[in-house]
Amino acid sequence: MVELKTPEEIARMREAGRVVARALAAARAVAAPGRTGLELDRAAADVIAASGAEPLFRGYHPSWAPTPFPGVVCLSVNDEIVHGVPTGRALQDGDLVSVDCGARLDGWSADAAVSFLVGEAPDPADVRLIADAEAALARGIAAARPGARMGDVGHAISARARAAGYGLTADHCGHGIGRVMHEAPDVPNEGRPGRGVVLRPGLVIAIEPQLVRGGTDAYVHADDGWTVRTADGSRAAHVEHTVAVTEEGPVVLTVP
Ligand code: MG
Ligand code: MG
Repeated sequence: MVELKTPEEIARMREAGRVVARALAAARAVAAPGRTGLELDRAAADVIAASGAEPLFRGYHPSWAPTPFPGVVCLSVNDEIVHGVPTGRALQDGDLVSVDCGARLDGWSADAAVSFLVGEAPDPADVRLIADAEAALARGIAAARPGARMGDVGHAISARARAAGYGLTADHCGHGIGRVMHEAPDVPNEGRPGRGVVLRPGLVIAIEPQLVRGGTDAYVHADDGWTVRTADGSRAAHVEHTVAVTEEGPVVLTVP
């Protein structure tokens, strides 16, 4: 069942979104060659704790996972697409880092992800990949207008990504979000225009395209049971915002 939120509830999710945006910014500010995933995780955890919020990922244990997730953030580096586990491994110059973070504040959740490059000499193809992922996300957000359908959102994302030659991992889609992190409906990264759930004011969704540089849609699971990697070893970017569908149009909730 799709639960619609009142304007008051959306305002509270906006506060949770502010915490998530600040946690992601803190993690990003720490990222540099020689710094570790655990340090980025700690930076995000400190912001969430200081805000009186609770992290949504740590301890999350879906049926398909072998262990509860250990991090406050997912940290996916280079060929890792999503669900990467923060470790003590040091980041290298040129690494492509995706950080995903969720938090709940006063009973309401928000979820967002950013991708960025570490160091001073990024590969221009990685710079383009991240810009194109952000552009695909922006297209998806713009399509989340009241009266549109979910297929319009997926189509907007995939059309932008496919036109630039990227792969998409359609199995790891976005989701409704509210009191809990994952609610109905699914928000696929591909879709047919005019098909799917009608987007009504009060619907809040996490939109999260994942673009693969090598053009493949195929992925594999790492031995840790969590990390999802590209099958061809090429790099991936993952960006996400929590977005409210309102009478006035889409409103991004995960911004500072
Ligand atoms: Mg997320
Ligand atoms: Mg999400």
